[in-house]
Amino acid sequence: LKICRFDENKIGVVREDQIYDATSALDALASYRYPLPLGDPFIVALPSLRDKMSALADHAPAVPVSAARLLSPVANPSKIIGAPVNYKKHLDEVTTDPNLHHQNVAHTRPIQQAGLFLKATSSLVGALQGVVLRHPDRRTDHEVELAVIIGDRTDRVSAKDALQHVAGYCIGLDITVRGPEDRSMRKSIDTYSVLGPWLVTADEIPDPGALDLSLTVNGEPRQSSNTRNLIMGVAELIEWASSFYTLLPGDVIMTGTPDGVGPIATDDVLHARIDRIGEMTVRVH
Ligand code: MN
Repeated sequence: LKICRFDENKIGVVREDQIYDATSALDALASYRYPLPLGDPFIVALPSLRDKMSALADHAPAVPVSAARLLSPVANPSKIIGAPVNYKKHLDEVTTDPNLHHQNVAHTRPIQQAGLFLKATSSLVGALQGVVLRHPDRRTDHEVELAVIIGDRTDRVSAKDALQHVAGYCIGLDITVRGPEDRSMRKSIDTYSVLGPWLVTADEIPDPGALDLSLTVNGEPRQSSNTRNLIMGVAELIEWASSFYTLLPGDVIMTGTPDGVGPIATDDVLHARIDRIGEMTVRVH
């Protein structure tokens, strides 16, 4: 199942290049009083809503994907987790290009030493919202990544069992201002986490470690790799992350970017694709 959030917070089922409105499935969600529970309530309810959404989609009018304003498929993650330098060739380019490491040795260490980082959840947008450059005077780079959406409460799980806790997958863009500051600051700017175009449920991607991913800027190829080149794969990332903090439904793990990162500028058009998920166009404003 491919599920998107679009226009004015509608929920849709995506089939081929059409979206079928299944928003009324949200009527089954509980309404909350303060304090709100951590985690995304739609992702919590997803297993029980799937059949209902499919049935609604069978009888809903279609909207072309190209005519929809695609929002982030997850609205309220409690965490966006980043994996730094998780492809060998990207580690090589970060180590050799002073524009990428800024004499900061912490930016040139392999992931097992560098650890994971967190991006502010307020940085999250969908494909059609686009990236709004905040510091156009500083180099700002694209990073295309496989994004994992956690499906349920996941605490200290082993890699062997980790994939059972995945709700689905999206394309992620981890937009990054280069410079000496900590990653969490440079990668948390509003609109610098793009998730889309929709969530593909985990049953459609039994092996997240064998997916081609690529990104072009204004039609020019910039990044092209396969998730088999991840240093730490999806299951290992979930094991490691959940050994430090409990993962909650809707939490996002951006699994790291391959080599080929490069600067973006106002009016650029980014086009990202990942096998079995799809493709999305993201404008830079
Ligand atoms: Mn990244």
